[in-house]
Amino acid sequence: MSRFWSDTARRLTPYVPGEQPKLDKLVKLNTNESPYGPSPRAVEAIQHAASEDLRRYPDPNSDALKAALARYHSVSPAQVFVGNGSDEVLAHAFIALLKHAAPLRFPDITYSFYPVYCGLFDIAHTPIPLTDSLEIDPADYAAGGPIIFPNPNAPTGRLLAIDAVEAILAANPDVPVVVDEAYIDYGGESAIPLVDRHPNLLVTRTFSKSRALAGLRVGYAIGSAELIEGLERVKNSFNSYPLGRPAQAGAIASVEDEPHFRDSCARVIATREWLDQALTALGFEVLPSAANFVFARHPAHAGATLAAALREQAIIVRHFKLPRIDDYLRITVGTDEECAALVDALKALV
Ligand SMILES: *Cc1c(COP(=O)(O)O)cnc(C)c1O
Repeated sequence: MSRFWSDTARRLTPYVPGEQPKLDKLVKLNTNESPYGPSPRAVEAIQHAASEDLRRYPDPNSDALKAALARYHSVSPAQVFVGNGSDEVLAHAFIALLKHAAPLRFPDITYSFYPVYCGLFDIAHTPIPLTDSLEIDPADYAAGGPIIFPNPNAPTGRLLAIDAVEAILAANPDVPVVVDEAYIDYGGESAIPLVDRHPNLLVTRTFSKSRALAGLRVGYAIGSAELIEGLERVKNSFNSYPLGRPAQAGAIASVEDEPHFRDSCARVIATREWLDQALTALGFEVLPSAANFVFARHPAHAGATLAAALREQAIIVRHFKLPRIDDYLRITVGTDEECAALVDALKALV
């Protein structure tokens, strides 16, 4: 604490991202990055954008990127919002759409940035417990305040079927519902086709996971034009130029390289299935995952102990010291070699 801090800065409990250790030869399975590189066309476009033109501000509205995303998702450009990573898109959604008189609702176990934004923006919120099997039950989301949840959920990896997502929307037509689809490309069914029927639905996406561009910082949202306009109002009251020229160029090239995208998602899904079976064979309980990570616990070994022991062998996974999930490890699906190294290390530990 410093006497120079505002009351706001004093009150905050900031989000703690997974560590990015500066060590070589690390098996880094803690932050759900892609084990494969981005589209070579994206890298080329970013390099091409690193030119004299950088003296000029970028397009404040990222119109070319919005047009590419609109084409990709078969919506109109007025239904697309882009931002500096989906975390920024989410922050704007919290201010523009999720701060109402009735408390915001989200699962008790979910992306831990949500309560952080509530603290920053002073948003009342109510956690809705996941079921005993760590699933979202649509019956728990009867009419009430606004709603946000990831699908698949993080850090459980569990997918909510599209008809269950629609049941939540149908029960809540008068409040915004945000579905954070950071991991939808690993086998889930997107809610984007529902935006035309549900003007209260906002779907957020990121280039950080399935498009392997975490370092570029690009995220977006798809929804009705009225929801998007609300986000634009906040964005233009905060930062007119959230995406630089290289980010806009790289993101467009990524969207236009469908074969690379499909191939890397398919490889991650195949390795995830292998990892699930290998961990199950070691006695782990592995939740069914539709993401690029698995969430698993061992009946005889504490999560914190396993995470610390792996760390000594330069294998980094994520452990959350939180009620209900303290026993679990969240393990990012890496390359086949990285996952084999993890399983070998666990074999010796359990
Ligand atoms: C990774 C992640 C994000 C943030 O992605 P960025 O675009 O890198 O900011 C958002 N939501 C969930 C659930 C995530 O896991």
